[in-house]
Amino acid sequence: MRKKIVAGNWKMNMTFEEGQTLTSEILNIMKDEHSGDAIAVLNPPLPHIFPVKKLVGEAKGVFIGAQNCSDKEAGAFTGEVSAKILASFGVQYVIIGHSERREYFKESNEMLAAKVKLALANGLIPIFCCGESLEIRTAGTHEPNVKFQLTEGLFDLSPEDFAKIVIAYEPIWAIGTGKTASSEEAQDMHAALRRHVASKYGKDVAGNTSILYGGSCNPKNAQELFSKPDVDGGLIGGASLKSRDFVDIIKSF
Ligand code: PEP
Repeated sequence: MRKKIVAGNWKMNMTFEEGQTLTSEILNIMKDEHSGDAIAVLNPPLPHIFPVKKLVGEAKGVFIGAQNCSDKEAGAFTGEVSAKILASFGVQYVIIGHSERREYFKESNEMLAAKVKLALANGLIPIFCCGESLEIRTAGTHEPNVKFQLTEGLFDLSPEDFAKIVIAYEPIWAIGTGKTASSEEAQDMHAALRRHVASKYGKDVAGNTSILYGGSCNPKNAQELFSKPDVDGGLIGGASLKSRDFVDIIKSF
C-alpha cells in the first residue's frame, strides 16, 4: 500500500549514547506533535539496531531499518550481515543500493537484485535506492539511466513481491551537497519511475508504490517536495541526525 514515509539514514554516525539520545528525542517530539499518517523509519548503524528497537518499543508509526544487508544467505562472509539475522532482531526495513554502497563498495545491479530477493524472502521491506550522477543529469540522460537501475534491480520480482518495495530516488549530485533537486525535477522523475513500474506491473501496483525523494532534504524544503503528487516522502541523511529537523520533516506533509 502507498504510504507516506520519512526514513532517516544515520550512515556511519552516532555513538551509543548519541544514538539513544537522538532516538528518545525523536520519540518524545513525535508523541507531542505528530498526529499525521506519515511513518518514520530509523536506519542506524548495525550495533544500534537492538538498543534503538528496544527504546522504540511499541511507539506508533516508528519502524527500524538497516542500511544494508548481504547478497548471501549465510556462512563464511566475515563482517557481513544477512537479511535473516536482521529480521531475527526485529528489523522491518532495509536500505538497498544506496549510491555510497554502489560507488564505494562496488555493488552491482546483480548484487542489489540478490539483496532485494533475500530481504523479501525474510520479510524485510527493501527501500531500493536509485539516482543519477551530475554527469548524467547534465547530459540529459537521467531518466533512462534511473529507469534502467529499477529494471536491473527489481524487475525480476513477481508482482506480489514488487508490491512490497519502497523506491527512493536520490540524485547523487544532491546527496550531502546542500543542493536539492527542485520539486519539479523530483516530481518529473518520480512520475517517470511510476510510469516505468506501471509498464511492467500495471497501474494498480505502480499507484500503490511509495517513491521517496532523497538528497539534501531538510525542514525548509520538505513541504514543497512532499506537496508533489508522486513524492511520497523522503530518505534523509544529514537532517536525520537532528531530532528537531527530522520530526519537522515528518510533519511536512
Ligand atoms: C542520503 O544519504 O540518503 C541522503 C539523502 O543524504 P542527505 O540528506 O544528507 O543529502
